[in-house]
Amino acid sequence: MCAMEALVLEKKSELTLRPIEIEETLGPDDVRIEIRTVGVCGSDVHYYTHGAIGAFVVRAPMVLGHEASGTVIEVGANVKNLKTGDRVCMEPGIPDPNSRASRLGLYNLDPAVRFWATPPVHGVLRPTVVHPAAFTFKLPDNVSFAEGAMVEPLAVGMHAASKAKIKPGDLAVVMGAGPIGMLTALAVLAGGCSQVIMTDVQQPKLDLAATLGPILPVNVAKQKLKEVVDSMTDGWGADLVFECSGNERAAASVFEPLCPGGAVVYVGIPLQPIAYDVAAAMYKEARVEQIFRYAHVYPRAIALMGSGKLDVKPLITDTFGFNESIKAFDYAVEMPSTSVKVQIEMP
Ligand SMILES: [Zn+2]
Repeated sequence: MCAMEALVLEKKSELTLRPIEIEETLGPDDVRIEIRTVGVCGSDVHYYTHGAIGAFVVRAPMVLGHEASGTVIEVGANVKNLKTGDRVCMEPGIPDPNSRASRLGLYNLDPAVRFWATPPVHGVLRPTVVHPAAFTFKLPDNVSFAEGAMVEPLAVGMHAASKAKIKPGDLAVVMGAGPIGMLTALAVLAGGCSQVIMTDVQQPKLDLAATLGPILPVNVAKQKLKEVVDSMTDGWGADLVFECSGNERAAASVFEPLCPGGAVVYVGIPLQPIAYDVAAAMYKEARVEQIFRYAHVYPRAIALMGSGKLDVKPLITDTFGFNESIKAFDYAVEMPSTSVKVQIEMP
C-alpha cells in the first residue's frame, strides 16, 4: 500500500483532493505509469452530480478519471513492447483475458471488465497507476499528452465508425455536438464519409464543429434536420445516422433522415429507456447497431493522430492544473456552450 494524493469522489456532490491508500503491485505483465494528462468525461461528472450511473453506484470513496496519458516509469519482467520513458496512453477497461467474451474478441463486453472510475474501481486522477502492458499504447513523438488523453473518447467514435461499415463517400448525420459527437464526426470523416451533417441546439458548439472539416451544422432549435438532409440528397436521405446526444427525442427520430437501406448507430447512452418507430425502420430496412465503449481501436486512433489525418486539438478547450481539479469539475458541471473537452494536467 502506498498513499498518494488523488481527486477522490467521497460521495455524491463531494470531491476532495487528499491522500488515499491504493494497493498496487507491479505484476510481470504490467507497467507503472506516471500520469500526465486526464480528460474529464461526462461519466466522471455524472458520478459527481448523481453518485451513480444506472446500476453503478458509488458506495465508497473513489478516485475519478479514465481518459489518461502518461510516461512509463517501471516495467514488469515479461514486458517487451514498452520501456521506461515511453510516452503512452491507456485503455481504461481491463477484461478477464480468459472470459468467454474476451476469447470471442468482444472483451469490451466482458461482464467482469474492470474499468477505471466505474465503481468500485479507482480512476487515475492521481500521480501513478499500475496497468497491463497489453492495454498501454505508445504515442508517436508528434502526439502530445493532451492529445493522448483524447484517444479514449476518440476510440468511442472510431468504434461507432467501424460498426457503421462506412463506404467511401457516405453522407453521415451525427446527432449531438458534445465531445463524443465531435469525435465521432472526425472518426467517420477519417473513415471515408464525404460529409457530416451535425445537429445540436447549442450554436457555439455547432460553430466550432463547422471548423473541423466538411461538417454542416444544423441547429435543430431553428431548422428541421429532415428538410436539410432532403435538400442535399434529392429527398433520398443520409446513408448513416450516428445518435450521440443520448437525448430521448433525438434517439427516437433517427429513421427520419435515414435513406432506404441505411444504418443507424446508437452511441449516446439515454438515461431512460427510449421508444423508437420500428415500422419506420422496417420500411427502410434500416440496420441498427449499438456500441459499448470499444475494442481493438486504440492503435488505429493513435495512427490517425500520428499521421496528421485526424486532429483533436481544437476540441481541447479548457485545461486546469491538478490542484484545481475540483474547480475543473465544477466548471464541467456548468459547462459553457463554448467548451468541449476539459482536461487536467498533473504536476
Ligand atoms: Zn470518457
